[in-house]
Amino acid sequence: MTATLLVALRPDGTVISPDRDRVVTFDREGRLFTYFRRGLTYRRDLASRLYVRGKAPGSPDIRWWRPVAGDEARSVVEEAYGLAAQARSGAADELARRLDDEILRWTWDDLARQAEAYRAAYPYPPSILPPDRYLSIVLQATFGCTWNRCTFCALYRDRPFRARDAAEFEEHAWAVRALLGRQWPYRQGLFLGDGNALALSLERLEPLVRAAHRVFPGQDLYGFVDLYTGQKSEASKWPTLARQGLRRVYIGMETGDDELLALLNKPGSAAELAEFVALLKRSGLSVGLILMVGAGGRQYARRHIQASLAALAAMPLDRDDLVYLSPFIEEPASPYPELRRRLGLEPMTEEEIERDLAALMAAVRDLGLRASRYDLRAFVY
Ligand code: SF4
Repeated sequence: MTATLLVALRPDGTVISPDRDRVVTFDREGRLFTYFRRGLTYRRDLASRLYVRGKAPGSPDIRWWRPVAGDEARSVVEEAYGLAAQARSGAADELARRLDDEILRWTWDDLARQAEAYRAAYPYPPSILPPDRYLSIVLQATFGCTWNRCTFCALYRDRPFRARDAAEFEEHAWAVRALLGRQWPYRQGLFLGDGNALALSLERLEPLVRAAHRVFPGQDLYGFVDLYTGQKSEASKWPTLARQGLRRVYIGMETGDDELLALLNKPGSAAELAEFVALLKRSGLSVGLILMVGAGGRQYARRHIQASLAALAAMPLDRDDLVYLSPFIEEPASPYPELRRRLGLEPMTEEEIERDLAALMAAVRDLGLRASRYDLRAFVY
């Protein structure tokens, strides 16, 4: 029996599957996007690095991306393009056109050269995105984080904080558009990076927002903000940005327990956050709140869950909002390991963290809210 070639000519990509064990997806530039092969899923990022989805030996059954390098990466990528080449014989109409114009023009070396376009667009690579924004277009209005002193965080320790002016920002946006090519209309919104771009004043943000819309018309806006600077912004900033296309603001809440928050050296309190969230909601925005499960170790585990649930219950949240639960990963380059040793905090095992995460997830959903997992290891851009 001969296998039947399955093809999907989607607006945002081309899917080719010669049999049930292999499914390859290319973007509208013809670059490999994902390749499912005999139970393993590979993903190529915008810098042409290849990742495979899997789990670390001995860890809970949670899957994230592991880099694939060198000859192994080349062989997987060339195999995926080989399937496209096989599909060319007998192909007609739109499939033949896409194979010729988009997909089969790429070689391994051409794809590798995408890393240069990526570095030109992003001198500092995007460090993280919320999971619902993995397919957004990152535009870096700022580099780094204005605060950069939370004890657990090493996301931006490689870069000093700096805001781009409108001209530099627009040049960057055009470089990102060149990198994405024909794929850009199918990305999902614009994410203003880095750590807290929305901390900029309205006066500084408005020209950047106009430039973003000039380069990427019709795309909504998203971004992180920290409570400390967000709260100090003029109140009129938020409804103005909502009118200009801002849809959701993401805040690293971390915990509803004020003592634990102070220990993590994050400014603010649960009460201040509730006030700020109410302001954002009145302004027509939705929020994404990120909680960390496992920070503070066993000593803080119970109170973290209880205080976080109480803090969420006190906020005017609805089904437009997202609550993210992030398993705590001790970052060796952060001050946290030293703090843990000094205070004698007992680290939770991965199993304990996963158990608490599942319990908190169920409890947040019982509040009628949308909750999901936010794993730093699952981020690929
Ligand atoms: S957690 Fe957020 S506010 Fe704190 S240092 Fe990291 S990016 Fe900045």
